[in-house]
Amino acid sequence: MRILVVEDEESLASALERGLTKLGYTVDVAYDGEEALEDARKSHYDVICLDLNLPRVDGIEVCQRLRAERFSGGIIMLTARSGIRERVDGLDHGADDYLVKPFAFSELAARIRAVTRREGGAANPVVSVRGLE
Ligand code: CA
Repeated sequence: MRILVVEDEESLASALERGLTKLGYTVDVAYDGEEALEDARKSHYDVICLDLNLPRVDGIEVCQRLRAERFSGGIIMLTARSGIRERVDGLDHGADDYLVKPFAFSELAARIRAVTRREGGAANPVVSVRGLE
């Protein structure tokens, strides 16, 4: 299971990387929105933990572009903004869930499990055998 952590706050990014690695996930970190989009084009991620307030390209736009490029994994927004509008915006632009900072690591881990359970059934609905689908 591969996770991309997108967070410009380095101490939080490395704490999340350490914690998720310890749980057995393969973790990459991107420090801004542009880097996140590049990473997501290069590798397959099951879940992207996405800070909303990012340099270069903000999280809402990253979300929107990922979905436009048919990213099918889970997106969990991490945000310091507790405003309802940003959350609704993020969810409307393709995020699956959100956490308001500061959050407990155990809650993030639980939400990752929930999102991957949901993705699990629908990730590959088409079976192809010898050219037949
Ligand atoms: Ca930030």
